[in-house]
Amino acid sequence: MSGSDFGAPLTTLKGIGEKTAALFGKLNLATVEELLEFYPRTYEAYGPPVYAGELEEGKVQAVRLQISKEVTVTWVKKMQIIRAAGRDMTGTVKLCWFNMPYLKTTLKPGSVYVFRGKAVRGRSGFSMDQPQMYAADSYETLQGRLRPVYSVTKGLPSKTIGQAVEQALKNMPVRKDPLPGWVREKYRLAEQNFALRQIHFPDDENSLVLARRRLVFDEFFFFILRVQQLKENREKKLNSFSMAGSAYVERVLDRLPYELTQAQQRTLGEVLADMEGAGVMNRLIQGDVGSGKTIIAFLALLKAAEHGYQGAVMAPTEVLAKQHEQAFRELLLDNEIPLRVELLTGSMTAKEKRLAYERIQNHEADIVVGTHALIQEGVEYADLALVVTDEQHRFGVHQRESLGGKGKEPHTLVMSATPIPRTLAIILYGDLDISVIDELPATRLPVKNCVIGPDKLPNTYEFLRKQTEQGRQAYVICAMVEESEGMEAENVTDYVKTVRNHLPEQITVSCLHGKMKPKEKNQIMEDFAAGRIQVLVSTTVVEVGINVPNATVMVIENAERFGLAQLHQLRGRVGRGSHQSYCVFINRSGSKTSEKRLDILNHSNDGFLIASEDLKLRGPGDFFGVRQSGVMEFRIGDIFTDSNVLKDASEAAALLLAEDPGLERPEHGELGRMMERDRERMRQDISL
Ligand code: ADP
Ligand code: MG
Repeated sequence: MSGSDFGAPLTTLKGIGEKTAALFGKLNLATVEELLEFYPRTYEAYGPPVYAGELEEGKVQAVRLQISKEVTVTWVKKMQIIRAAGRDMTGTVKLCWFNMPYLKTTLKPGSVYVFRGKAVRGRSGFSMDQPQMYAADSYETLQGRLRPVYSVTKGLPSKTIGQAVEQALKNMPVRKDPLPGWVREKYRLAEQNFALRQIHFPDDENSLVLARRRLVFDEFFFFILRVQQLKENREKKLNSFSMAGSAYVERVLDRLPYELTQAQQRTLGEVLADMEGAGVMNRLIQGDVGSGKTIIAFLALLKAAEHGYQGAVMAPTEVLAKQHEQAFRELLLDNEIPLRVELLTGSMTAKEKRLAYERIQNHEADIVVGTHALIQEGVEYADLALVVTDEQHRFGVHQRESLGGKGKEPHTLVMSATPIPRTLAIILYGDLDISVIDELPATRLPVKNCVIGPDKLPNTYEFLRKQTEQGRQAYVICAMVEESEGMEAENVTDYVKTVRNHLPEQITVSCLHGKMKPKEKNQIMEDFAAGRIQVLVSTTVVEVGINVPNATVMVIENAERFGLAQLHQLRGRVGRGSHQSYCVFINRSGSKTSEKRLDILNHSNDGFLIASEDLKLRGPGDFFGVRQSGVMEFRIGDIFTDSNVLKDASEAAALLLAEDPGLERPEHGELGRMMERDRERMRQDISL
């Protein structure tokens, strides 16, 4: 890397050629700066060596051993196996390596090394496969250190990533800290260069805590500054649309097969009043899964369209966009409302898109439903008056700003099921007014839950069989798409086979994951919605907003790996119809703490409560555990566990803006650059 060029491509690092760079590309890492900001997933500690007699089954430990006899070398097919044995005063450990011929000469009888690996108990004592090997004194220098563990992709192990980071850090020029000195002092923040080094290779736990706190602060701080900018820009905008009253809204409400809850009525009132107000609407509707946010959005869109304007709904996934489109068409048909709906998604052909764009531009479409393809270049609206963003937690602040700016400033309605307390919502959505739907429709039966170990899986299959025989459908959720290095979690592609084997042939089991082509995904979701698929084995892509009321069972594998808020979101896919629904959480960790956490879900269906209990149980310092990912996707910060830092960052941003509202002073120049960079990055992050 030359000079201060953080933007240099990764190939400027030694040992990274085009091929390796392509692997890094799979992790969305192209530049040195991106690599440096690819923070470890967790850390591994080098504990002090134990005696052979103290080894514990299944645990990764270090043990200091003397090689007790000549090593043996055998071949199985093309694999060379080296076996050795080492001992100390308390016992013997068998050691074994694959394809590492040079060990033959190193492991002389009588030599002493520290071996670190997973201890497995066999018939004749403990053994370790592929242990790492250290000279006794070199292990000593590592002891007490934390080693970074990175998220990996096939062919790119954590160690390789760590080596690249180490090199990048070595070459890293010292940067001037972009945060004003008084902010760092007031909030006791570590210096930025220090933080960046220590987050990857911490000297000790204390340095790690400091480093992380600083980086989390930065992430929140720049986010909040941008939210504040948005707020500034928006507050000045006047409502240039005239839409008094709405006969369509009245008609739909009259004929609705259910009654709106009190909370829905209140929210609808606020939305409709905003649309007739002096300023442009900027409103967030926050309501738990199943609280009925969609109908509010539809009614607002009807109002806009009835008065001759266009409205748009953005959904985070194509499947959800399609579902909204269909529901909307039905609503119009049932109520004999002659409005035109247009679907716009990424998987449409170029020609289909062009035709859709034309209809939107010529106002032959009144309501546009789509994915973020909507916000891409090429879409021009004839008269856009309302933009609804569904399931906002999947979107960064970027989406909140991108549809405005074209033509007149449209009204904005953002819908979110993120279970966050109001104080946090005010910070994160500082640019929006907030309506809360804190009530579920009364007709809903609460979902029955249970947490089980893998030993109870046969009962689960039996239960799936019974439910499907009664005509119901089920989701099975796995953590991953395919087996990947260093992760022992059930994956969709293997798991779907297991599920098929355990269920009678006539039950249709299909699989859904984010790496499938959009067309394929849509087809499967449609088949599931239409009841042609009974059991859907899926990654968390179904998490967001899907509505299949006939689905009554949700089985979640490796539930211990998910944040409770995310599990709650997943659970929200069932319990949407008139039948009793069930959610089965499978805890594979065997750990009591996990069980206790998951048990919270057992006792509550209240998203707000669940998130705060999870926080209490884990404590604010616990960042080695499960992240509440899926809630608001920050790179390192977690709005729950880091809520104190979030409050600090919010206060700091307010103080800074009071002093220099436009961030125009020369000493704040670097801040502007950081915000711009974050904005670019979020733009990339949303290309799902
Ligand atoms: P979410 O808030 O999670 O987006 P939806 O808007 O998808 O929830 O609503 C879930 C289901 O509840 C839908 O099938 C919808 O028709 C139904 N629903 C909405 N409001 C009510 C209500 N007041 N009474 C009964 N059912 C309702
Ligand atoms: Mg929804």
